Amino acid sequence: MSKRDYYDVLGVSKGASEGEIKKAYRKLAIKFHPDKNPDDKAAEEKFKEAAEAYEVLSDAQKRQRYDQFGHAGMGGAGRGGFGGGGMNMEDIFENFGDIFGGAFGGAFGGGGSRGRRRNRGSNIRIKVKLTLEEIAKGVTKKIKVNKYVGCNPCNGSGAEKGGFNTCSTCRGTGVVTKVMNTMLGQMQTQTTCGACSGQGQTIENKCKTCFGDGIVRGEEQIEIQIPAGVAEGMQLSVSGKGNAGPRDGVAGDLLVLIEEHNHKQLTRDGENLYYDLHLNFADAVLGTSEEIPTIDGKAKIKISEGTQAGKILRLKGKGLPRLNGYGSGDLLVTVNIWTPQALSSEEKKALEKLRKSENFKPDPNHKEKSFFARMREYFTD
Ligand SMILES: [Zn+2]
Ligand SMILES: [Zn+2]
Repeated sequence: MSKRDYYDVLGVSKGASEGEIKKAYRKLAIKFHPDKNPDDKAAEEKFKEAAEAYEVLSDAQKRQRYDQFGHAGMGGAGRGGFGGGGMNMEDIFENFGDIFGGAFGGAFGGGGSRGRRRNRGSNIRIKVKLTLEEIAKGVTKKIKVNKYVGCNPCNGSGAEKGGFNTCSTCRGTGVVTKVMNTMLGQMQTQTTCGACSGQGQTIENKCKTCFGDGIVRGEEQIEIQIPAGVAEGMQLSVSGKGNAGPRDGVAGDLLVLIEEHNHKQLTRDGENLYYDLHLNFADAVLGTSEEIPTIDGKAKIKISEGTQAGKILRLKGKGLPRLNGYGSGDLLVTVNIWTPQALSSEEKKALEKLRKSENFKPDPNHKEKSFFARMREYFTD
């Protein structure tokens, strides 16, 4: 099978910058990531192909050699097994794992780099929807997760009692070493043992419950501690609570996506909360005190005489706690004046009288600021 051009693989031009190459690879790596495409051979091949292209094009020397000689210049280059059969998955995660950033919760991090390989279970994603009250205090959620768990009869090993044999191909090391004679002398390359898939042992008698996988479908009640101050769209990672790894492998992670219920009265913006207060017209004129909802109860606020519509009252520290644990946001109360919509004839008469009063005329020199001007002020003071 002839190899595709590395630039084509990543979908970048021959003159692409280092940054463009990294970006293109990251996109592909996430798209074809095995976590996203379980048991999809085609995706795995694409994933490997992209990693191979990236390994060459991200290295100035290798890239130059590739530009000059094409794939022919790449023989013997690269890490274990590369150049012949491409990179194996462990190499990719070991060398380029950081490219995924937080996208996969540090998946595949451990899993011994060389030598005996431990299978890693896949990650599980769940969503948790929280109320604003839960977000304000932090909360522990108990959630039943359907997932692969270790098989009981075989203790997760996949083998019947005493059913293991040390792999005769690699003598239990999980890797095979090939020695090649090249123009430059002998070269050694190590690859994962194919006979045992790097496990170091083969199963003589497979467990009848799990058919040798060491894992079965099951469920687990998992406690998830959610810190105060989280927000919609955040993802928490609970290490080791994903699917169990086949044959005594390492469990994957549980990835928890945070969603938010809307609050009936309060609106959230980051760490601040907003409340729309509708004031009786007479109260705005004469002054009063009002009870307003907060995230953990109620608060009384004083409305001073002659309060204008649009005024914003700030209750310091009555917002949501910051995720980093340092302080809280504020609760911002916007004053709206309620205009009555049904009046008795007596009320109408009273207002007709007041309408003509000098005091009811808006002051043309009064500079009541717009809502946006006030918000700007609030955020810059
Ligand atoms: Zn082996
Ligand atoms: Zn079993």
